[in-house]
Amino acid sequence: MKDQDYMWRALELAQFAAKIGEVPVGAVVVCDNQIVGEGYNRRESYKNALAHAELEAIDMACRKLGGWRLHRCDLYVTLEPCPMCAGAIINARIRRVVYGASDPKAGCFGSTCDFNAFSFNHKPEIVPGVLQNECAGALSAFFKELRKRPKIPDEKESPVRLAGKPLIQ
Ligand SMILES: [Zn+2]
Repeated sequence: MKDQDYMWRALELAQFAAKIGEVPVGAVVVCDNQIVGEGYNRRESYKNALAHAELEAIDMACRKLGGWRLHRCDLYVTLEPCPMCAGAIINARIRRVVYGASDPKAGCFGSTCDFNAFSFNHKPEIVPGVLQNECAGALSAFFKELRKRPKIPDEKESPVRLAGKPLIQ
């Protein structure tokens, strides 16, 4: 399979994330032409800042391959990795990172900075821009939809002015 084929799978995972109300980011880890790890952003579902697509896919790959060194593995992710995931990629010795859309706010392989410019002991090969339009499109469609949703009023905007005892204590 080609880079694009694996990126389509990552995009499929991202689309599912969007369906359950998560920012659509998907990732797969590939070893010897086989998918050994998959993940998508689940920050809202798990209420956890660590639940990024890449970390889930890396975690699954380590379990499946029975080791932390993923030096024969390539990671495909729809969005340029953030500092946390770029760190995990380096720690896992991922061979190649293929990403779709750039992330000017948090991307660490070229956008806000380039982790490969630092003197870390491992430098993955970086392939940016694979299915860039599709990956960026999934994100912009998600945020457009989010803005359309009616805003739920805040408790501070409550019309009740009398302070009373709460009904349920
Ligand atoms: Zn991340």
